This record gives sequence, structure tokens and C-alpha cells, in this order.
Amino acid sequence: MSRNQRARTIALANGVVRKSEDVWIVQSQSSDKQYQVVNWGDRYTCNCQDFRIRGRRENCKHIKALEYLLLKNKYGDLIE
Ligand SMILES: [Zn+2]
Repeated sequence: MSRNQRARTIALANGVVRKSEDVWIVQSQSSDKQYQVVNWGDRYTCNCQDFRIRGRRENCKHIKALEYLLLKNKYGDLIE
């Protein structure tokens, strides 16, 4: 699966839970781990290893999952 597909799988499995105004908890798809995604206004950060390595260039699947969910909530069925 591509990273985008994995992100969608997480989002559709209710693996993204809002913790506070700017913080979401995202369930790992491959393990019991949970990651914390923070909205800084103009960008997101995640505390997973993947984000630490290349997060500046490309969002990790946890951030993608959150973005997908937010789009889905906003546009509903227009998003596949
Ligand atoms: Zn992550």
C-alpha cells in the first residue's frame, strides 16, 4: 500500500481522535502505538520516527490521515 492508502485506512478505521483544540492522537496501522499530531497553524508535526526523518519534506502517514479526515469531514462524499 502506498502511504496515502495507509493514511486513508487509518482515517477510515476511526484511528484519528481529537484530543484538544490543536492536538490529535493517531493510531498506528501496523502496531499498538499511538502518535500525537499537533496543528501549529501553518503546519503539522508528528512525534513518529518517520516524521523526524523526512517530515520537513513530506508528511508522515499520521498527518496524511488527519488531513484526509478533515477533508472528508469538510467535503464529505466528494472525497474518495
Ligand atoms: Zn507520524
